[in-house]
Amino acid sequence: MLYQPVPYYLLFKPWSTATRPVFGTYLALFLIAVPSGMLTRIFEWTGIPVQLGRLDIHLTLYLPLLICVPLTLWLGYLWGAIPAYLSTFCVSLLGGMPLPWIFVFSLSNPVGLAVLALIYRSTPLRTDLRGANGLPGFTLAIFVASLAGSAGSFIWAHTNQVGLNEFFPVWQGWWLGGFLQGLVLTAPILALTTPFVLARLEAGGLRQADREPPSRRFLLAAMSTTIVLIAAFAFVVRAFSLSIASEAMATIDDPATRGGLETAIEGLSLPYWIIILVITLAAFFAYQAIVHWTARIRVANEILSERAEALHRASITDSLTGVGNRGWFFREAEESLAERAGTQFTLLVMDLDHFKNINDRYGHPTGDAALVAFAQGAATLLRSADALFGRIGGEEFAALLGGRDPAADAATAEALRAMTEAIELEMAGERVPVTVSIGSAGRAEPTESIDHLYARADAALLVAKRRGRNRLSTARAEDPSTDAGARSQARS
Ligand code: GH3
Ligand code: MG
Ligand code: MG
Repeated sequence: MLYQPVPYYLLFKPWSTATRPVFGTYLALFLIAVPSGMLTRIFEWTGIPVQLGRLDIHLTLYLPLLICVPLTLWLGYLWGAIPAYLSTFCVSLLGGMPLPWIFVFSLSNPVGLAVLALIYRSTPLRTDLRGANGLPGFTLAIFVASLAGSAGSFIWAHTNQVGLNEFFPVWQGWWLGGFLQGLVLTAPILALTTPFVLARLEAGGLRQADREPPSRRFLLAAMSTTIVLIAAFAFVVRAFSLSIASEAMATIDDPATRGGLETAIEGLSLPYWIIILVITLAAFFAYQAIVHWTARIRVANEILSERAEALHRASITDSLTGVGNRGWFFREAEESLAERAGTQFTLLVMDLDHFKNINDRYGHPTGDAALVAFAQGAATLLRSADALFGRIGGEEFAALLGGRDPAADAATAEALRAMTEAIELEMAGERVPVTVSIGSAGRAEPTESIDHLYARADAALLVAKRRGRNRLSTARAEDPSTDAGARSQARS
């Protein structure tokens, strides 16, 4: 529900049935928004005096904003700014404003909307006004936006040659009216309709569920624009006040009063510069803080993902031999078999012979060394065969060979047996005899599962042990094992 501009070209994809209703609705709102500004002129809703308690205030009701503010927050800045511009353009044209001024004057509300869009783009404020910050954030944003937009009233005052008395209600009506109208009318509209509108946009593929955080360049541009806007606004207010003051000065004859007023007017320039300086400083510090924290967050994220990666690696690796562990092997094997139904696969189950004797005679560390030597030798040998290889039990290993002919797989099994026999391991001047028995099973049916394949290879392994160990035994395709539960037994 964060502000996320919709790219223009997307709405004009005429072939997309998903975008057509959205564009139709937009067009309808556009056609209502532009002429609705006329109502303000016809009914003279500009600077309406309102008595609020003991306070006399002026309010202006400008209907196009009721549509253009939501359009800006739903679709993006230009989607709302263009009807806002055209609406003011039509109204001022009919009001008889000189054409060159109309071009500038019509920018007033788009400037306000730009401030609004900037605030929503740079912050995680929700456009449906939900969340703890939703309403306070909107209140603040619409206040600043109205104030920025009301700068246009200076142009109005200038082109209409009005004095302060006439100008003030227009100016106050503009920003206070825009603010209150936003709070009382636009906010409920947004709160009620935004979830529905954004869901439709998402369904039409015009919005992602997630928004990229603003880039540093964007934040820098947003801050600079804001400062320039505030400075320009303050400058215009100052210039306008000064010109009214100097007009009034001309009517004063008493030199003492004139002197005092001149000093007072000169003093007015100081707060202008101080405010600009303070705002620039605040923005500078805010930017530094953002840069600092985003850099720290990036480092923290890198460390976290490195740790997650290391944890994952540890969870699938056998710590003694460094090869894949049992869980990893069976998962990967299951996946390979499922992905390549019909492909020839051979599963080798390998069990080191009389390993208990090795431990008993030469000690556990020697047993460990034998396991490492076997695992590394087998892994090296199997790498060229592009096989899955893992330690599936104490001194039990398995390899899954895929996509080759059975004769090549048998040759690989024989190479494994020979490699094991040739392992040079000595303890107290004595050569430690390391041998392996291998049970082999080729996939008998196109969709035979890893469990079934394992049961048959394990049965073949038993045969190899029974026939004297240090040998290969191959399960025949025509007598599949009935012992499909062997894997789960071996797992426990
Ligand atoms: P067979 O030829 O029938 O397979 O006899 P075996 O002695 O190899 O079989 P058995 O299952 O009786 O013994 C396996 C031994 O492997 C028992 C266990 O102590 C040893 N072993 C299992 N894991 C490790 C390990 O990580 N390090 C060492 N050193 N020994 C292990
Ligand atoms: Mg064993
Ligand atoms: Mg054994």
